[in-house]
Amino acid sequence: MMVRQIEPYIDVNAALGGIDGPMLTTTFHTTPAISTYLVAFVISDFVYISEEYRGVLQRIFTPPHVADKGRRALKNAVRALSKFEDYFGIDYVLPKLDHIILKRSPAAMENWGLITYVGDALMHWDDVGSSKMQFDVIVQNHEIAHQWFGNLVSPEWWSYAWLNEGFATYFSYVVTDLLYPDYKIMDYFLIYVADDAYSTIGIRPMTYYLENSSEIRKVFDSITYHRAACVIKMFHHAFNQKTFVRGISQYLRKYQYSVANELNLIDELQAAIATDVTFSQAVWSKNSVRDIMLSWTHSSAIPIVSISRDYEYNTITIKQRSKDQSSLEYWWIPLNFASASAPDFQRTTVDYFMPPVPEVTLSASELGIELRIDDWLIVNKQQTGFYHVLYNDANLWLIAKQLHDNHTVIHPLNRAAIFQDLGYRIRNNNLQSVDVIFKLLSYLQHEKELVLWVQVADTILYLCSTLYGTSSRQMYTKFVRQLVKPMFTEIFEKPVQQNLTNTEVFAREKIMEIACWVDLPECLTYTHNVVRDRLVDGEARRNQKKYYGNSDFSDTLLLCLGMRYLHDGEFNAMLNTLSNGDRDTHPWYDDLIYALRCTQNQTYLQQYLNFLLGENSTKSIMDDNESMMYLVYMLRSNRAAHTVVWQFLEHNYQVLCRKDCFLRIFNRIAEYVPRSYLEQFKYLRQKIALQPKKVDENEFLIDVDSPSIGRRVEKSEIFVQKFNNQVYEWLQKHYVEDGINTVANIKQVFPLLNYGRLVLEMIRNKSKVSALCFATLAIFVASLTLAEATIGYLPPDLEEKSSARIAEKEAGIDYNARAVDNYRLPNNTVPIHYNIELTTNVHNGTTSFSGKVQIILTATEDTRTIVLHARQLTGFIATIQNGTLANAAAYNMTVSYETDREFLSLTPTNTAITLYKNTTWTLTITYTGNLRTDRAGFHILSYTDAQNRLHYMATTQFESTNARHAFPCYDEPAMRATFGVTIRHDPSYSALSNMPKNETASSTGVTVFQRTNITIPTYLVAFHVSDYAYTEGSLHELPHRLYSKPQNVSDHQFGLVSGILILQSLADYYNVSFALPQMAQVAVPGKGGAMENWGLVTYGEQYLLFNKTTSTTSTQLSIANIIAHEFTHQWFGNHVAVRWWTYLWLKEGFATLFSYQAVDEVYPEWDVYQTMHTSDYQSALSNDGIGTVVPMTHYAQTPAEISARYGTSSYAKPACVLHMWQHALGDKVFRAGLNKYLTDNAFNSTEEWQLFEALQSAANEHRLSLPASINVMFPTWSQQSGYPLLTVTRDYTANKFTVQQTAFNDNSTVNSGRTYYVPFNYASRSEPDFRNTTATNYLLNVKEINITDATVGATDWLILNKQSSGYYRINYDERNWQLIAEGLVERPQAIHPRNRAQLLYDAYKFVSTYRLPHNILLKLLTYLPGEDQYAPWSAANAIINNYNAYLSGDADYDDFKYFIKSLVNNTYELLGVNDVHAEPLLRKYTRNIVVNVACLVGVENCLTDSNNKLKALISKNVAIEPNVRSQAYCNGLRHSSDTEYNHFLNELFSSSDATYRNYLLRGLGCSQDSKQLERYVNSSIDQTKSLTSSERTTLLSTVYSRGSTGLLVSIEFLSNNFETYGNLSESTGAANPLSRDIVSMSNYVNNKSQEEKLLALVSKVKTSNKVQANLEVTVQTNMNVNFNWLNLNSKQVISFVKSYRSSARSALNASLLSVFVAVVMTLSRFF
Ligand SMILES: [Zn+2]
Repeated sequence: MMVRQIEPYIDVNAALGGIDGPMLTTTFHTTPAISTYLVAFVISDFVYISEEYRGVLQRIFTPPHVADKGRRALKNAVRALSKFEDYFGIDYVLPKLDHIILKRSPAAMENWGLITYVGDALMHWDDVGSSKMQFDVIVQNHEIAHQWFGNLVSPEWWSYAWLNEGFATYFSYVVTDLLYPDYKIMDYFLIYVADDAYSTIGIRPMTYYLENSSEIRKVFDSITYHRAACVIKMFHHAFNQKTFVRGISQYLRKYQYSVANELNLIDELQAAIATDVTFSQAVWSKNSVRDIMLSWTHSSAIPIVSISRDYEYNTITIKQRSKDQSSLEYWWIPLNFASASAPDFQRTTVDYFMPPVPEVTLSASELGIELRIDDWLIVNKQQTGFYHVLYNDANLWLIAKQLHDNHTVIHPLNRAAIFQDLGYRIRNNNLQSVDVIFKLLSYLQHEKELVLWVQVADTILYLCSTLYGTSSRQMYTKFVRQLVKPMFTEIFEKPVQQNLTNTEVFAREKIMEIACWVDLPECLTYTHNVVRDRLVDGEARRNQKKYYGNSDFSDTLLLCLGMRYLHDGEFNAMLNTLSNGDRDTHPWYDDLIYALRCTQNQTYLQQYLNFLLGENSTKSIMDDNESMMYLVYMLRSNRAAHTVVWQFLEHNYQVLCRKDCFLRIFNRIAEYVPRSYLEQFKYLRQKIALQPKKVDENEFLIDVDSPSIGRRVEKSEIFVQKFNNQVYEWLQKHYVEDGINTVANIKQVFPLLNYGRLVLEMIRNKSKVSALCFATLAIFVASLTLAEATIGYLPPDLEEKSSARIAEKEAGIDYNARAVDNYRLPNNTVPIHYNIELTTNVHNGTTSFSGKVQIILTATEDTRTIVLHARQLTGFIATIQNGTLANAAAYNMTVSYETDREFLSLTPTNTAITLYKNTTWTLTITYTGNLRTDRAGFHILSYTDAQNRLHYMATTQFESTNARHAFPCYDEPAMRATFGVTIRHDPSYSALSNMPKNETASSTGVTVFQRTNITIPTYLVAFHVSDYAYTEGSLHELPHRLYSKPQNVSDHQFGLVSGILILQSLADYYNVSFALPQMAQVAVPGKGGAMENWGLVTYGEQYLLFNKTTSTTSTQLSIANIIAHEFTHQWFGNHVAVRWWTYLWLKEGFATLFSYQAVDEVYPEWDVYQTMHTSDYQSALSNDGIGTVVPMTHYAQTPAEISARYGTSSYAKPACVLHMWQHALGDKVFRAGLNKYLTDNAFNSTEEWQLFEALQSAANEHRLSLPASINVMFPTWSQQSGYPLLTVTRDYTANKFTVQQTAFNDNSTVNSGRTYYVPFNYASRSEPDFRNTTATNYLLNVKEINITDATVGATDWLILNKQSSGYYRINYDERNWQLIAEGLVERPQAIHPRNRAQLLYDAYKFVSTYRLPHNILLKLLTYLPGEDQYAPWSAANAIINNYNAYLSGDADYDDFKYFIKSLVNNTYELLGVNDVHAEPLLRKYTRNIVVNVACLVGVENCLTDSNNKLKALISKNVAIEPNVRSQAYCNGLRHSSDTEYNHFLNELFSSSDATYRNYLLRGLGCSQDSKQLERYVNSSIDQTKSLTSSERTTLLSTVYSRGSTGLLVSIEFLSNNFETYGNLSESTGAANPLSRDIVSMSNYVNNKSQEEKLLALVSKVKTSNKVQANLEVTVQTNMNVNFNWLNLNSKQVISFVKSYRSSARSALNASLLSVFVAVVMTLSRFF
């Protein structure tokens, strides 16, 4: 720059005024040393206004016609410049500062002394909303701040651009706040600057080296501006604001007119800090400021700080990790603390610098915090620090409690921070439970702080969108409506004051958005009116001020919200406008297109899409790219549009493929694919891949397994999967209905269970808790009890809300009317004690009974109405008395009954009577009922004695919801109370109940029972009134009795003795005594199962009575199992009840597990775990693999839903999952955990987390270190259905292997994507120790793990999951399967029997789901000659029978039989056909299997030996042993002489022994002789033969299911006799045996000749009304399934068995089995 003239300032006017020849020359004064980028000049005809202050002239230059508009900007410039001078203590160094507004400038620029601005900045401050003005003030002050930061001191290089922009950004806010405190601009800093900074991570650090100009351009990003501002703000506060400013002033002074880097700045700060007495004690203050600050300026991410507290020692563990999960950065983090005892939120200097380590644990006093154990703790006061803080749940509960009690104690910015940080956890599914979150949210109805609403809004909206389509959605929206309504009313229904701040505008939009998203009627009406006026009636903009006076709203937001629910007329008008209007001239055309995407009506959405993109969209209103972007907008902003978009794509992909850019849009849309749609999506993608496309070079179709697919909805889906149940239950339990419950009510609702969790966390180790802690705890627990007593009832709302109903509302119908659908009692009164008196004359068959129940109850809130359950009871007369006054007056009650929910509501007729909170009352109800005949509730049964006389009895079955049939009660499992029972009955009868008889109070015909000394749930109450006899015994003074009808007394012994032993062994294992003074077991005729009534367990007779001569060992084992199951319930279910039926598995899972464990303790020689493996373990794995089973923890509400909970997912699966953890944790820990669970929760009720906490606590006590806590690991099993398939891949050269998990599904193309925390361990050929089953490794909810420290040799087999205790399946690479197969042959006993079984079961499952070839499975089977154990044979039996069913019609069936014979022969020879006295129990089980297999494939000895048993029976009357009867009759009759066959056929017609007839009925069908079978099947229609009608219609099935011969005989028989056979039953269609049998026969068809014959039969009968209409189709379908199987599989199997046979023939010519085994072993190496 040439300098000819020195002036005090750059004189632009001079440039305009003077003429130097044709041109004017303007010369400026020389500047101080400045950077080139700060030089500027402007040549224009602008005019200015000016003001001089403190010797600095400031001017605003504008075009002449708006000269006056800059007045306020000038004022601000003057005030701001002097404020900066004062703040930094450094004067502005130039004599003037100009501000010039350039219409087309790209951005404002801080040129020294000549700031340029964009567009209409600084103008029109008078007539635009003040939020625009505030924004301009920030911009102007930012540029003024640069006059110091950037201009006075410039950065050494662009690497330090943040030294300019970070400081300018931050201090523009600081100074604006000082100048205009009413703007509350620091709030805006949080929701605008900080919010943006938090969302930008992992890209680069603040200080970032760069070179070329394009890199330099990129450095001006949100990191340089916003993150740097946040970091500067953090240190401004942490280093003590004044000290910090002193440091930066010194820095500015020292480097003025020069350049500086970050170290220069830091060193000046260090110097300032060193002189600050506040920090004189702080170690870091001496020389650590460089380390501290560089850890922030050189890191790419930001930290997440987790705070967890140990309440026992009052220590705090602080962890840090990077928000970017792939980074290992650590920071020096300035922390400050507030607690309930010391809530000083104003002091924001650092209390403690966390060093850059992952974790520190310090006591509260070391951290300088005043903190009692029941104090809440808050870190990062006023959000001054730039990091997230996550708290442990217990601390959050304490915070929640504070918020509910008095939220103003906590600083508003910290209240806001809690929600912001929770939002991060929610979006990342980093939660243990949602309870605390909802508890926190629920206080929002009292919250009026705007920043907080802004910071919580995204979380509320996220949940709203995430819960879309789930069971929780309706309740959730109603819940939020209630939260937002007070705030909405406050803001929008008051006259608005002028000049809203930026924060106010922002918050109003967010509140509006929340309110409309949850359908708050006021919001919908408002936004809908805006839409109607604007878009339908065409009213001008800005008139929206008339509603709530808001002119600052974003148009697009208002219109979008207003579009949610439209009338048909409105929508059609809009669509019409779009179709016929002209985009260029119509004022709202673009608004319409953009806003319509927000409608919630799916039909409208579909029409809208058709308009935009459909085949018949005749008018091209936009270019293709723009139209298609709307698909993305819809997916992003409107959950209702998701399915519509997919459907639209499926219908229109051909048209769309012809458009530009479709693939690019499609790839983006793919990011929204939900898992449930994945398969269809892949199919759609495939179709698109095949379409001719308009493709530009850069377009490609997303990869079919791209990780992007679904990534934008993945986390939401996980949330729903993990937490929807919890959300549902929370809302269900705590929901407060709009407008009815008051603010006061929700304050009372502080859920006991979570206090309980907190207490648990606090009392982790009672024995070590100090006396002081105990005192505090005692107070805490006392307040807890109070909380329990005041739990209020909050009715949930399942109202279906649809757009149709919105329309109704607008037509004057109140859509807030509730359709009640809540089956839970209000429980605003709770029972303490019941006195029940029942009178029954059941002895003579009378079913009517009368009852009187007296309930002592307490009100938990003021109420006039008591609500109880009752079922099928009548004649209620009820009175109520004050429970505390002696001789209190009895008031009559009016009674009303609601059939559907079975609610009995009682209200005092005297309107003056109210049951005030915490008052106690005695309610008396008399009523009558009828004993039921369906074995439920209080019911009547009968039996016939030896003299053929009929005897009646009355007994009970109350679980789940039938106690209410015997007496009105609070029939929910958590409503425990004590009981006194009196029963009046005929003196010839006796009565039983849970407690022993009270001898003194009883009299003839009146049995009074002792009152229970403990509380019990209603469903466990029981009575039994009969003329039964009993036997008794006792152990440790606990009397045991076993009751049955008198003629069965001799069958008592086994049940009685087993019961005594089992009860004691359970009490010993749990180390918790049985709680009642008696145990009675009762055998009830015809009962289908057993019931664990406390102290009075009832069983079906066959489950309790054991006859030494006629009963089988399997009956014996089942009796022991069932006793153990019911007795386990005495603890799991009775001692500790389930909180609700959701957690049914907490009792049934344990009962199922201990039905084995307790029997194993008492009868160890039985080895019952093998039977667990073949029954519950296999049935759980099979059922759970189908993909339709619900998780263990699953909500149920109505009685019908509750009874559906009684299935595998509540019994077998939880037993297996518990068993897995028992082994993984080790029995010592498991047992200690159960003891803790039972002790801590005694006589209470639980949810699953109490179990997890107890197990965790036991693990801690035993110093068992776990890779994750149990309440994180276990829910992946309890709250997710299914289980993992582990796939093991070995690296044979490096001794390594990989374990991968995928969710198992029978359909191998389906993957739910679920992962689990999988404990496992392994054994190998060289280390075959299967005994220690604790987990040595874990797959931690990740897909894959590498095991590198294994010592598995290359030729070793490797087997995971020792003893098969883990609940999962395992597939191996083929080579390992080969090694296992060889190992099994070589030394089967080296592998645990349950592993041998599981290898077979798994391989079989993998073969049948096409995951493994048949030869692997068949080869595994070749070790069977060395197998004598039950579980493996049970697996083999299933496999062989399955193969046999398919292959028995094959031409090469003989080869198959040969193969199986060679497998079974050895074990058959070992076991034979005869029952052996005193042999191991499972040997008998194994024999039955082996005999069946051997005879099935024609092992000669088997057939002969079996037949000989029948011969001996006929000729010598040698009885067949009970244990082998079934096998002996069937196999003995396979190839018997006609004499024998006819003998037993006649026995069938003449015997009166039903059991014997049953054996015969099944055995006779086993014959393989056509003539015999013909005689047999003909007898079914021969009315001269003595057969029952059910025998006539079942015997055919015993024939056709036993192979080709029987099948052909049956087809032939029906062809000749179908009319007669069909007439055996009155029923028609599918219910007729003719139809049923033909369909069933089709399942056994496995070759063409059978098919032809069956089809011929079908065509004969298909027109008959005795068969189903679609018979032909059904039959053909069934047969096709078989033929498909054969096509796909038979070749593989046949080829294996053929080559097996030929190798054996050539290589083996000896009959010695040892040689045979050796050869098989050698051979197997060549497969
Ligand atoms: Zn049970």
